[in-house]
Amino acid sequence: MTTHALTVNAGSSSLKFALFALDGLSCRATGLVDRIGGDATLELSDDTGAVLAQRDLGGRGADHAEALRAAIDAVREAFADAEVAVVGHRIVHGGTDHDRPVRLDDDVIAGLKALEPFAPLHQPHNLAGVDGARAAFPEAVQVACFDTAFHRRHPFVNDVFGLPREYYEKGVRRYGFHGLSYEFIASELARTAPDLHAGRVAVAHLGNGASMCGIVGGRSVASTMGFTALDGLPMGTRCGQLDPGVVLYLLEVEGLDAAAISDMLYRRSGLLGLSGISNDMRALEASEDPRADEAIAYFTFRIRRELGGLAAAMEGLDAVVFTGGIGENSDRIRREVCAPMGWLGIDLDEGANAAHDRVVSVGDAAVTVMVIPTNEERVIARAAADAIKGGG
Ligand code: AMP
Repeated sequence: MTTHALTVNAGSSSLKFALFALDGLSCRATGLVDRIGGDATLELSDDTGAVLAQRDLGGRGADHAEALRAAIDAVREAFADAEVAVVGHRIVHGGTDHDRPVRLDDDVIAGLKALEPFAPLHQPHNLAGVDGARAAFPEAVQVACFDTAFHRRHPFVNDVFGLPREYYEKGVRRYGFHGLSYEFIASELARTAPDLHAGRVAVAHLGNGASMCGIVGGRSVASTMGFTALDGLPMGTRCGQLDPGVVLYLLEVEGLDAAAISDMLYRRSGLLGLSGISNDMRALEASEDPRADEAIAYFTFRIRRELGGLAAAMEGLDAVVFTGGIGENSDRIRREVCAPMGWLGIDLDEGANAAHDRVVSVGDAAVTVMVIPTNEERVIARAAADAIKGGG
């Protein structure tokens, strides 16, 4: 038996998982259970993308526990030699306490459950994944990796809202999210571009969820997401930055209740809400409808505004990194973000951008623009491996 780490990323209706050999931390497989609660399907692939298993789970995908059991069955069938010694979990919220990964025990889990009101759409699903993994692997070490941890040492001015102080003390703070992705990008810069890692880097994680982060010397100093994963950039279905007065208007004048407003802000806004067509950038780029272009224009405008803001927060800018499904794959979005930003020292190399090269700025540009595919699973696996080595 070779020892392995399993990574688990349990979302509201999907479960992503991956298997890493602890020796050398090589990824042996990645998998996805989709449409949990409905017609759930499972797919398991090896690290080249070749499909190892594909299943219609039917009634078996009824909840997260079943989804995890199906995932584990598929892994066990494909890798009979794999002993899972540690399970690493993506947990969206670590509150004010957790600025690094932590071994999960009953006390830590109780603390994380208490944070559910801060992230009601994500935290309960993440913790359901923990329950399922503890039941399936009672002997394995369970480790939590937080999306908030990378941002926990923000300076006060980037941690606070202009509300009465008591709310700050109660935990109403700018936590920032996508921390596992930013940590991966920072580690890639440290490995491949140490000069940039030591400098001031704005990372744009542009996927169905989207945010940006200012990183100085490998540390997050500012992020566009705040108390929840709603703030900052418009996203696939989330609104991004919004005047809080709009929420009061929806409540008091339009008569919507909290559930209806939450549904609108999380599921019916952003690119989908603005275009009326889709939350999917590929569909919007392919559309001839002017509303698709307007939604894209709003998306790229907000990225440029935040880029200017992050440069101010970092007191300068040495590099911009694009990542996430859109950031990695859409040369159009990168071009529309970068073209009007020559004043900030950004000068895109059109050919390199169209070819999706790793560096897409011209050779002598003041700001290096890069495309780096993110890998949150690897960050979780690394933390899981460290927890076993270090005993905690
Ligand atoms: P993620 O949440 O990181 O998986 O990213 C999903 C988003 O990436 C969706 O909006 C996709 O439409 C978008 N995306 C993926 N590939 C492309 C592409 N080639 N061009 C434009 N958008 C893309």
